[in-house]
Amino acid sequence: MRYKIKQLEKVARQLEPDFEAREYLTDRVQRYAQTFLDELPEAPAYVGDSADDAGLDAPFEEAAGDLEAALNVLRYEVDTPGINPASARHLGYIPGGGLYPAALGDYLADVTNRYAGVAYASPGAVRLEKQLLKWLAEMVGFPASFGGDLTSGGSIANLVSIVVARDAHNLEAKDFSKCVVYLSAHTHHCVDKALRVAGLRECVIQRVPMDERFRMDPAELEKAIAEDSGAGLRPWLVVASMGTTDVGAVDPVDRIAEVAHAHDLWLHVDAAYGGFFMLCEPGASELAGIDQADSLVIDPHKGLFLPYGSGAVLVRDETQLHLSHYYQSNYMQDAQESALELSPADLSPELSRPFRGLRMWLPLKLAGLAPFRAALEEKMELARYFYEMLEKMPRFERGPPPQLSVVVYRYVPEQGDADAFNRALADAVLRDGRVCISTTQLNGQFWLRMAAMNFRTHVDTIDLYLELLGNAAAELEKNQ
Ligand SMILES: *Cc1c(COP(=O)(O)O)cnc(C)c1O
Repeated sequence: MRYKIKQLEKVARQLEPDFEAREYLTDRVQRYAQTFLDELPEAPAYVGDSADDAGLDAPFEEAAGDLEAALNVLRYEVDTPGINPASARHLGYIPGGGLYPAALGDYLADVTNRYAGVAYASPGAVRLEKQLLKWLAEMVGFPASFGGDLTSGGSIANLVSIVVARDAHNLEAKDFSKCVVYLSAHTHHCVDKALRVAGLRECVIQRVPMDERFRMDPAELEKAIAEDSGAGLRPWLVVASMGTTDVGAVDPVDRIAEVAHAHDLWLHVDAAYGGFFMLCEPGASELAGIDQADSLVIDPHKGLFLPYGSGAVLVRDETQLHLSHYYQSNYMQDAQESALELSPADLSPELSRPFRGLRMWLPLKLAGLAPFRAALEEKMELARYFYEMLEKMPRFERGPPPQLSVVVYRYVPEQGDADAFNRALADAVLRDGRVCISTTQLNGQFWLRMAAMNFRTHVDTIDLYLELLGNAAAELEKNQ
């Protein structure tokens, strides 16, 4: 028996590289990362998919493979086609960039593999995450009674919030079809998804009309609540957005909160994109009322420029977050008997989870807060600058003035279909590849978006894009 075990051990030990092997691997991977970052200023922000996946299609072998070969597959088949989210010239969707020290935080968290799910297993890791959550809660003005969790992103954080709102209001399955949720047409689609996943598919969804700047209209909200109550329905939840993905609009949460709380509704604020603008003065004044939320979502992989995989949920009253996520089991008795305070596993659907805090903690410790504040205010200024420069460009129509860092705009051709023209314009920009943008529909029309949210995006990027955009429009107009 021991002989067989020893034979297996010999093969299994290949999973643990020795000091020299580690040095070799780390050195090569680091060189890959350094080259990636060195080439980034010149690299395209978008590359069409060539669908050349020979390396990715290859099956896994029984025998050991070669790092150089693996890195080559990565370089050409993974890190080339599609959007380059690290690029300063990624101005589509909501970028973030990916801070280098955050990657080092992940590296350390993965090497030490601290178990951040329960305080018993890693009191330090749990405490570190609590400090981050406390910092977030103080930033948005939540009381000390708050509870929170670092999630993998905004979608999951919104799902957790919806579940807490459901349980806090004691909704039961038999009531679902009477419960009303108030959203706007620009609420992020992940909220609809979260409602379905939370079993609330049968709820009535009311789209509250927006003002001319695509912000939820509180008077319309109040009217809808009164009508629904009168009709025997049960108004339950309002989801306000602080920074919509479409146009970067901020719903007037201070007034929405008054309406919601006067009628005993749960107020959830989706600040996945906009929340971190609290760190700069002009941003904080746009986000008035954020402290009134019952639950709130904020994405560090957007406004704190972390790599993908970082969201956060904050609930005003920790008890309610706990009520939706408590658990009991025999094999967890060591952890539960020694618990003096609640752990992530008590406050989220997860048990085993990555030590997410370190990727956020390390950049904040290394850079300090000042560069974050400056970068966020700079992004707001870049959006205003872009908006002003567009005014000087003939035939460009602009959407509402930017509240945060998204601008919507379109070209109105002398003749022909404007939607088709703008679609072709977006295609031309992507084909060029230096800049990546995305598009949306507003009032049934095709619009282009510019979202400045990568920490690497500066005024030279905006100047380059303005030039590229003007030239591409002129070229298309010529060929009409
Ligand atoms: C990005 C975003 C989400 C979704 O968050 P993920 O982190 O992509 O899951 C939700 N709401 C808003 C307003 C967003 O901008």
